[in-house]
Amino acid sequence: MKLLVWLILIVLVILALRKKVKPLTTPVPDEVRGATQEPMSENMVSCAHCHIYLPASEAVHRGADVYCSAAHADLH
Ligand SMILES: [Zn+2]
Repeated sequence: MKLLVWLILIVLVILALRKKVKPLTTPVPDEVRGATQEPMSENMVSCAHCHIYLPASEAVHRGADVYCSAAHADLH
C-alpha cells in the first residue's frame, strides 16, 4: 500500500512541476532570446587553453587560436 501512495505522490509532484514549469518556460525563451541575443550578438569564443567563453573583442588572438588572456596564449 505504501508503494502505491508513493507512486501517486510522485505522479502528483511530476504533474505539479510540469504545470509550474510550462508557463515559466514558454514565455521565457522569447524574452531571454530577445534580451540575451542583443548583448550576445557579439561573437563568443572559447579559450583554446581553459575553454572559458568570452567575447571575441576581449580574446587574445594567436595564429588560428584564441585565448582568454595573454598568459594562456603564451602557454601555447
Ligand atoms: Zn584561458
